[in-house]
Amino acid sequence: MAKPKIASDWLAACAGCHMSLLDIDERIAEIAKLVDIRATPITDLKEPDEDGVDVGILTGAVNLTTNEEVAKRMRARCKILVAMGDCAVFGGVVAMRNFFKLEEALRRAYVETESTDEEGKIPSSPELGSPTPVRALREVVDVDVFVPGCPPDPDVIYYVLSELAQGRIPEIKDEKLHWH
Ligand code: SF4
Repeated sequence: MAKPKIASDWLAACAGCHMSLLDIDERIAEIAKLVDIRATPITDLKEPDEDGVDVGILTGAVNLTTNEEVAKRMRARCKILVAMGDCAVFGGVVAMRNFFKLEEALRRAYVETESTDEEGKIPSSPELGSPTPVRALREVVDVDVFVPGCPPDPDVIYYVLSELAQGRIPEIKDEKLHWH
């Protein structure tokens, strides 16, 4: 029987959730025996297969029109969508931007920070897309599994991946909702 295909991507995220995934260490070899790991931001293949994958994992909040496109593409191409990490689950630290006017937040980030020199300017390019209000993933697409944590604990990520790899929907409750 063919192994289930898994793909992941990131939206408005730091790399912490994917680093936590790598922190499952040698157990990733066990997961690789059970699943076909396809596109991820940290491998050469960047987009989920056009003919679909079994499990899609997204980290990060939706903060840009390009994030919306990535979220909708993953939703369209996967059977089970996992929101991995607080940013994907409820907006996380990225959603703090909603407390400020967009122009104010961009100016602070790209022009006024103490580490920015006189060359600082707000980036603008069609490739980046346009900023939107920050939203949790479920506000843009339907989500099947929520894995909170900033980042989620590697043991929880391992549990989630191994359950999904064996065709089960993971239950995130009790001690799996504790993180440090
Ligand atoms: S949940 Fe935390 S670790 Fe994951 S992308 Fe957001 S800020 Fe980074």
